[in-house]
Amino acid sequence: MLKNTLAGMVCLLISLAACQSPDNAQTEQTGTQEAGTAAADTVQRQPRPKPEHYSFKGVEKTRVYICMDETEDTFHQKHDCPVLVSCKSTFRNLTLPRAVEAFGRYNCETCSADLAYVFDEDAVQFETGL
Ligand SMILES: [Zn+2]
Repeated sequence: MLKNTLAGMVCLLISLAACQSPDNAQTEQTGTQEAGTAAADTVQRQPRPKPEHYSFKGVEKTRVYICMDETEDTFHQKHDCPVLVSCKSTFRNLTLPRAVEAFGRYNCETCSADLAYVFDEDAVQFETGL
């Protein structure tokens, strides 16, 4: 019975959210699942909020590229990354820590998927927890 009530409330919440403007939809994020919704080709892309958890152990001196377009929130290891090439603004070459801390960039899934661990909260905790 309780389960049904919960499901009903969730449906209600979803229908409420659907009626609101898209701006309100992203005020609260669950954080655990961020992949999956990116497939839709939305007209206006919103950059993610600055990363809060990161660790640059071993990659402090890695140089990356960032597109200075305000809708971009990623950095690239490859200067010929297709995502970077499609940049409509200027781009800069800078160190990875600076790209993350000063510009709030995340790793590009196309050319820098191997750097995702930099933002892995669990990895950071493991690093400092003991
Ligand atoms: Zn890239």
